[in-house]
Amino acid sequence: MSDRILAAVMPAPHAPIEVRGFERPDLPPGGALLRTARSEVCGTDVHLWHGRLAGVPYPIIPGHVSAGWLDAVRGPLRGIDGADLHEGDRVVFFDVHRTCGRCRACTVHRTPTRCAARRVYGITDPAAEGLFGGWSQAVYLEPGVGIARLPDSVGFDDYIGGGCGLLTAVHILERAALRPGDSVVVQGTGAVGLSSIALARAAGASTIVAIGAPASRLELALEMGADRVYDLDRSSADQRLEEIRELTFGEGADVVIEAAGSARAIEEGLMLARDGGRYVIAGHYTDVGVSQVNAHHHINRKHLEIRGCWGSEARHFLHALTLLEQHAATVPWRRIGERTYTLDQLNDAIADAEAMRITKALVDPSRMT
Ligand SMILES: [Zn+2]
Ligand SMILES: [Zn+2]
Repeated sequence: MSDRILAAVMPAPHAPIEVRGFERPDLPPGGALLRTARSEVCGTDVHLWHGRLAGVPYPIIPGHVSAGWLDAVRGPLRGIDGADLHEGDRVVFFDVHRTCGRCRACTVHRTPTRCAARRVYGITDPAAEGLFGGWSQAVYLEPGVGIARLPDSVGFDDYIGGGCGLLTAVHILERAALRPGDSVVVQGTGAVGLSSIALARAAGASTIVAIGAPASRLELALEMGADRVYDLDRSSADQRLEEIRELTFGEGADVVIEAAGSARAIEEGLMLARDGGRYVIAGHYTDVGVSQVNAHHHINRKHLEIRGCWGSEARHFLHALTLLEQHAATVPWRRIGERTYTLDQLNDAIADAEAMRITKALVDPSRMT
């Protein structure tokens, strides 16, 4: 890799993505440089481009989940799984860094995804500080970043096909406290919803119903492990409620997972859960407005448990790797990444992701058209 490193920069919301040159960084002890093989364009990147996330220090190099080879390492480097790491290793890293471990969120409440010091590669790291995003030929891995070797049987496209959606889904399933035999409804068939289906199947769910669009994603939902799918545009909420209750002893689902990011989905999800069921809300990563809730009918009388799910922790990252190692041969994660874009095609990638022409865009930063 040359000393001049090319990266795609998002200068500001709604401004075209530009390819810029950066100096190869000097590494401090414990630091490393990743030669990027794959990164991704996810829903968050579309939100970033629209300026819908608070506290983003534009210009940024987007691409928060990425994979590649260790190009340079300064001093001994130990992975988050305890293994020694060396130049040339095929690795991935946990995009969340600088979680402080000292604040009340970290220590008293044990909710480190709400730590105020926490930063995320490709989202809350400014390009002015260096190569902190995956839409770049190289990523600077500062000391303390959680790095792990990618299992030999897991391809870069498997890992990035799952990507941030898989890490989020691992956290969602933990929040859902899924028990073997539970019935599950997944609202949304984007990357988070699709991985949630696969993990619910692996965790022993009985019936899994997915609600989403467009048709191509519903086909993929069936291949990820859903038993039944509903096209949001070709079925009504009343029809879905009636049929899902029929499938679940007339009760509704034990667990409902919201990965749709729509205010209407909340209203429907509250109805689809059974009395005493659990509802995990993970799709409202940005403010999409107000949902109508009748607290008596939907929550109190129903004895419903509602849980939010924000970000992910290091264990979700490591568990995602284990799950990929076990299931990537049979679960088509790599098919979530429908098309691979080069560094100079990222404006197209954002437009395609926004228009839902593709489920997820992969990025190969080593190439230009
Ligand atoms: Zn903290
Ligand atoms: Zn993402």
